[in-house]
Amino acid sequence: MQKVRTNDAYREDKQNIVQDLESNMGKSISCKDAGKTCGWSATAESEDALLKITLEHVKEHHKELTINSELAKNIKSIMKDTK
Ligand SMILES: [Zn+2]
Repeated sequence: MQKVRTNDAYREDKQNIVQDLESNMGKSISCKDAGKTCGWSATAESEDALLKITLEHVKEHHKELTINSELAKNIKSIMKDTK
């Protein structure tokens, strides 16, 4: 008995990919959580994407901060899951 389930397998794969994306989804950050008075906040689908957005904001509005790996670590540590 030969099983030909190419289409089904493909569908299942696709479903898994969507689920993976969803499980990575929903990181949020707000400047308040970092002790800043500014009301900026952002959400993104992944930690890295959110880090990038946050660093852009830091460059614009928090020029007193030095962008380095220590800062990146701190930013990641105050990120929250949105779920
Ligand atoms: Zn800010």
